[in-house]
Amino acid sequence: MRILVTGGAGFIGSALVRHLIENTEHDVLNFDKLTYAGTLTSLSSIASSSRYRFKQGDICDERAVAAIIESFQPQVVTHLAAESHVDRSIDGPGAFIQTNVVGTYTMLAASAGYWRKLPADRREEFRFHHISTDEVFGSLGETGYFTESTPYDPRSPYSASKAGSDHLVSAWGHTFGLPVLITNCSNNYGPYHFPEKLIPLMIVKALAGEPLPVYGSGANVRDWLYVEDHVRALQYVFEKGVVGQTYNIGGNSERRNIDVVNTVCTILDRLQPREDGQSYSKQITHVADRPGHDQRYAIDATKIRNELGWQPVETFESGIEKTVSWYLNNREWWSALLQRNQAGKRQGLGA
Ligand code: NAD
Repeated sequence: MRILVTGGAGFIGSALVRHLIENTEHDVLNFDKLTYAGTLTSLSSIASSSRYRFKQGDICDERAVAAIIESFQPQVVTHLAAESHVDRSIDGPGAFIQTNVVGTYTMLAASAGYWRKLPADRREEFRFHHISTDEVFGSLGETGYFTESTPYDPRSPYSASKAGSDHLVSAWGHTFGLPVLITNCSNNYGPYHFPEKLIPLMIVKALAGEPLPVYGSGANVRDWLYVEDHVRALQYVFEKGVVGQTYNIGGNSERRNIDVVNTVCTILDRLQPREDGQSYSKQITHVADRPGHDQRYAIDATKIRNELGWQPVETFESGIEKTVSWYLNNREWWSALLQRNQAGKRQGLGA
């Protein structure tokens, strides 16, 4: 199949592109604006494949999007391009509305225009797969899980913009008959994660001997999924998912942020001990909490497991060990990104 991946130079998009080139026969076109969050260095292992192409462009640019779809003639559009950092959405929501809402609209309108003109058999096989987050469901208390029927209750500009994009995708399915799929996934972690998100930020700051900033008490709970498990799930969904359906994807690995940071420190203590022999956990510093910080996210992934047969391969323990090792062995990848757009500087206190 020919698969158009938007945001393929980002964290999850690049994992998807690498997965598709390395493990399938599909042709992939990566359409990415290369914002501060995107880098082609995440794709160097597959860049020379004859089944891979890259086109720089903005998903809000109607003409560019229509032209790329017309020329590539995809069977599947996997839409990942987005502004993705909650803290940045607090200080600068406009970019999130533009890319996540208007950009998704542009992708839908161009895809629908292309799809309508296809012959019937190709219309039948076309899929528009929108990649979203569990954050659209809001925040959980100590118990309970997000299912596919949990009402939307987004609470940050980021999650609100993703919720808006999810609704647009559903509307294009219901109103125009576009064959859409939506996945809502929990927090991802793994290699090639931009060093402003919790896990890579902690690794990078620990190695630099800097304070490890944990928001508030660190009691917020996230359900962590290794990124390669996520992209395998995406393949299951666009190949086998039922048109019009939503699938929740999660790792069944709930951890408090403070426990995640302590785990990172323990692995670093073993793999790259501090010169003074002390634990990296000495560097943990509690800082002002994120405004409106959601308390707990947890995914019930029963549907994708029962209906499509997907389940994660990595446990949190195996995945975090791989991740920390990867950051130790790939310093040139992340050190080149540290100066980008205030990466690693505290954001999101603007509220
Ligand atoms: P990311 O920030 O690492 O990458 C986003 C990519 O999109 C970058 O390569 C960037 O250059 C590109 N991009 C941004 N604006 C663009 C535009 N206007 N036009 C074209 N390209 C543009 O994000 P990520 O963590 O890889 O997330 C990918 C998708 O998965 C997002 O839609 C996000 O909401 C969703 N998601 C992320 C997580 C997570 O834990 N990271 C969890 C669930 C869902």
